[in-house]
Amino acid sequence: MPEQVTLLLVDADWILTMDSERRVIKHGAVAINGDKIVAVGPTAEIVHQYQAPAVRSLKGRLVMPGLIDGHIHSSFQLSRGLADEVGSQKFLFQRMYPYEGYLTPEQSYWSTALCALEELRHGVTCMIDPGNYSPDETVQALSASGIRAVIAKSAMDIAKSSFGSLPATFIETTEEALQHSEAVVKKFHQSENGRIRVSLSFRGVNNASDDLISRMQQMAHHYQIGFQAHACFAKETRDSSVGGTGYTEVERLHRLGVLGPNLLLIHMGWATPGELLLLRDHDVKIVAAPSSSFHNGYGNVAMGKIPELLAMGVSVGLGSDHASSGVVDLVQEMRMVAGGYKEVRMDAAIMSPETVVEMATLHGARCAWWEDEIGSLVPGKKADLAIFDTRRPEWQPLYNPVANLVYSATGSSVDMVLVNGRIVVDQGRVLTLNADDIYDNVERVMPKILEQTGLAGLAKSRWPISG
Ligand SMILES: [Zn+2]
Repeated sequence: MPEQVTLLLVDADWILTMDSERRVIKHGAVAINGDKIVAVGPTAEIVHQYQAPAVRSLKGRLVMPGLIDGHIHSSFQLSRGLADEVGSQKFLFQRMYPYEGYLTPEQSYWSTALCALEELRHGVTCMIDPGNYSPDETVQALSASGIRAVIAKSAMDIAKSSFGSLPATFIETTEEALQHSEAVVKKFHQSENGRIRVSLSFRGVNNASDDLISRMQQMAHHYQIGFQAHACFAKETRDSSVGGTGYTEVERLHRLGVLGPNLLLIHMGWATPGELLLLRDHDVKIVAAPSSSFHNGYGNVAMGKIPELLAMGVSVGLGSDHASSGVVDLVQEMRMVAGGYKEVRMDAAIMSPETVVEMATLHGARCAWWEDEIGSLVPGKKADLAIFDTRRPEWQPLYNPVANLVYSATGSSVDMVLVNGRIVVDQGRVLTLNADDIYDNVERVMPKILEQTGLAGLAKSRWPISG
């Protein structure tokens, strides 16, 4: 008698399992029971062994583990178009921090809802948010969307560095920053049946005191969770660290004794060879975010050492960072990290499509400290799947699905998405969120955001508009 499960996905043209052998299965099937994968294999075998009340044919489709966006500011989603053509200092201190500093909880909610909508639509099933100042609204919107997430409460206790000054609304004492962070852990960690987890975030190395960083590491250890920060983002952040403390950012963290496997550092565009060795020796997790550097030229690819970190065995995930750099689409991010390093190193083989798909899945899972449950399609893991429609011009002809995924596709060809065994996107439509309602509310709240931040002059065409 075939074993009863809840859902069978059958006749998929291709399945990228991302298992330990990286098996690619043609004419494959996935058996799902509740929130877990039960079996992955050829359709003929799976339908012989399992039966389900719901059976979906995936002819003309490619199935892979859900993409993991290792770094996305959900609160920045409404900043698209507000930070074009600016260097790193102006980007943060004259655009993004003023924008975020004025964001009301309601505006933050719609920002996160739009972010989750775009992520799911493009095949992302798990996202890591470095944190903001409206964690309640962030969790509310993410919970409704059905996406898996690691969230945080942003914490910074140094208001001024040589890099710039933070808005007044961000400023907390060390004690306040720790108390507020801990409250968010207690309130939301493992909520939504474990689909929402909380990490700690000291946000930027230069805006965090030694005391805050050290005590945050102790708190992360106490709660058995991760902690994260932006580091080596730009030449200016490196110079600010060396000028202010005498050490580069990673050297400073090493001296504080906080480097370890539960630390996630984002960007790592300007790391020195010595810093790379420290990251490897302490199994620190890294997320590269090429699109923000592609947008405003921060040098993360030109100066970055992501191929070296990967070759050294460091876990390097991939992140889309924020909508203000244009793209919240991890498929395009894969193309950018592959193409970017090929171009700046003038080396066609330096980043293979296989490597970047590993970054967006297996490495991403390690960056989320969730590799025991997500990142590959193997029995026992959570049923988080991204399913692409390959009956589209950009996918044809199709012989090597990994190459087509990285070099030809975009997230727009995502057809179906499952998180925890639940279909949250079907035929390219996000089922859990009301897209029109989100667009209407974004349109409603944007004039106020532009007015309160003083950025209204930026949000318009430079070419004359008539009609
Ligand atoms: Zn960021």
